Amino acid sequence: MNILIFGPNGSGKGTQGTLAKDKYGLDHIESGAIFRKHIGGGTELGMKAKEFINKGELVPDDITIPMVLDVLASSTNGWLLDGFPRSLVQGEKLWEALQKDGVKLDYVIEIKLPRDIAKGRIMGRRLCENNPNHPNNVGIPVIAPEGDKCRVCGGSLSARDDDQDEGAIDVRHNIYYDEETGTMAACNFYKNMKDGGFKYIELDGEQSIDAIKEYLMAQLV
Ligand code: AMP
Repeated sequence: MNILIFGPNGSGKGTQGTLAKDKYGLDHIESGAIFRKHIGGGTELGMKAKEFINKGELVPDDITIPMVLDVLASSTNGWLLDGFPRSLVQGEKLWEALQKDGVKLDYVIEIKLPRDIAKGRIMGRRLCENNPNHPNNVGIPVIAPEGDKCRVCGGSLSARDDDQDEGAIDVRHNIYYDEETGTMAACNFYKNMKDGGFKYIELDGEQSIDAIKEYLMAQLV
């Protein structure tokens, strides 16, 4: 089972992706996490990637594409691919590689969310000192913190610097919502594909987390 997931920062992609991954016991292949691992390990690739990542820019394709395709090829459990492709070129190269290697893509999931709402959600996110997975968001009533404390455990909350930096959010979203050459162009490449052999699932990111979960689970066989 191989799944591709698209969704802007702030759309709940992590939550819904984890659900799909756990259902089938897939490897979670996340391009951003692979880069962070390289940076942490001080590899040459990590050092090259770091300068782009720090600016919020895309790491060049000659580094990113072979790196992700190598990790995909080494997966034996099937994968959930997250964070790649982020551009039309990456989307086309991924499809070419899958065709060449005879790898079947089973699902493409797209979480749709208007840009202004995605931005508000990112800026509202709060991080619990005890567990980064405790959901707290000052902009979403069902997961609003208890006063200024974590709604799950009462721990202290903080906000990530890059979540409060509107400029950095705009850079990330400029790439995502670009329908000409950006991530939405890659997403539409798959959406408009005839006879790709995969099921395309569109999720309404404005619905509640539980409603999205329920719909997604009903779509995945
Ligand atoms: P993320 O954790 O998905 O937000 O990714 C962190 C950073 O890694 C991004 O801001 C980019 O600099 C880089 N990155 C992740 N995925 C890609 C990709 N598919 N193409 C180019 N750069 C990427």
